[in-house]
This record gives sequence, structure tokens and C-alpha cells, in this order.
Amino acid sequence: MIPAHWPVPLALFVAGFAVTLIVALRYLLTSGLFAWLTHRVRPGLYDGKRAQIGKEIRWSLMSAAIYGVPAGIVLWGWRKFGWTEITLAWDALPAWYWPVSVLIYLFAQDTWFYWSHRAMHRPRLFRLAHAVHHHSRPPTAWTAMSFHPIEAVSGALLIPLLVFLVPIHLSALATVLTVATVMGVTNHMGWEMFPRWLVHSRLGDWLITASHHERHHEDYQCNYALYFRFWDRLCGTDRGLSRRIVEAVGRAVPSPASVPAE
Ligand SMILES: [Zn+2]
Ligand SMILES: [Zn+2]
Repeated sequence: MIPAHWPVPLALFVAGFAVTLIVALRYLLTSGLFAWLTHRVRPGLYDGKRAQIGKEIRWSLMSAAIYGVPAGIVLWGWRKFGWTEITLAWDALPAWYWPVSVLIYLFAQDTWFYWSHRAMHRPRLFRLAHAVHHHSRPPTAWTAMSFHPIEAVSGALLIPLLVFLVPIHLSALATVLTVATVMGVTNHMGWEMFPRWLVHSRLGDWLITASHHERHHEDYQCNYALYFRFWDRLCGTDRGLSRRIVEAVGRAVPSPASVPAE
């Protein structure tokens, strides 16, 4: 809590800094946890990747500040002036709306990500910004927030804007942020943590997990979305799952990375 009598510039600085720290810690703990798990279940998968992982962590910590500052400002305004449609009251919104609000936020994020990501694969924007994310070949559990600042800005503003438009309980928002964090990390970690019966099911055909996003890092011009395969299927950009991951299931050490074609 920031004391009400603090001057606005100091309050904004502290709010932005505090949320940056939270985002950075959330990244380090989540990526660290899944990197450790990777070491346990796929020993050797990240061998020889020290330099790549170092760069991924540096870009990700920079992204943490770019995500943290607008979120901190909006949270400060919410507590001080009642900005935003975020609520803490359990009776402010109907119970059925809780899961609906989570889905609205995830779908909005997914839609924004699909189109902005697809735009970032146009040659000029790719060279300028998105190439940083694709320097990870193949990605690791540390790649989740490895973005050039231009790309980080495009991802950082959506939720701080959505909270002004779409009512949500704070616990539902925390759920959205948890899904975003866990899927961001696990979709890059180089192996599938979800069971085959889910990944290869009717439901799995519409969900994005590591098997799907890895294919984007292999082939580039496909599989652009974040959580759902809706936009990729609708726009004909869904190319299915990564053979590297799907074929690696059941083996201790996956086959060497395929070199992606640009
Ligand atoms: Zn990626
Ligand atoms: Zn991409």
C-alpha cells in the first residue's frame, strides 16, 4: 500500500518499481521451476545453452520492467481513485461471470497476440523486434519473456487497458495472469507436460501447448496464437504439432533440434 500523502511522481515510481519486481520474481521462479523440472525429466535438453539462457534472462528482465510500469500505474490508480473495473467484492458480479471473465480476458489476449505476432513476422518488424524472441533455437523454459522492448510494449498494454473495459474480480484477474505465466513458460520449454490423451483429443485440437508453439519456433510462418488454435485454424496458419516434441515423448533425451527455416 502506498501512503495517500505521497507526491504523485514518487507514488507512481514506487508502484511501477514494485510491480516490476513482482513480474521479474514471478518470471524467475516460474521459469526456474520448469527449468529444474526439465533437468529432471529431460536431462541434457538444455546442455550447451548457457549463453542463450543468459540472453533470455536479460531480455526477460527488461520485459519485466516494461510490463511492470503500466500495470503498477493502473493498480495505483485503482486503489487511489477507483480507476478500472476490477473489483474485490464477491457480490459485485454474478458467480457465472467469474469463468466467463477469465475466458474473455484469455480470448482477448489470444486475439491481440495472434494479430500482433503475425504482423511481427513481416520482414521489417521481424528484423527490428521479433528476431530477439526467435534467437532462442530451440527455446527453453527461460524464453517466455525474451522479447525486444518493442514487442514487450505491445504485450504489456493490453491487460492494463482491458481492466478499464471489462469488469473482473481480482481473483479472476490473478487466474488469467497465472495462466499467462505458466503457459508462456511451458510452451517454450521443449517438451510436452500435458498427457497425450489431452494433447491428441478434440479439446487438445483447440488448445495451444508446447507441442504447438514449438512448431512456430521451427517453421516461423505458422502457429502464431497464444492459448487457442481458433485464429490459426480460421486463417489457415495452423500447421499442427512439432514433430521434435511429439516424437520425443517417452524418450529420455530428445533428438537434436531441427534448424528452423526463416
Ligand atoms: Zn515463442
Ligand atoms: Zn514468432
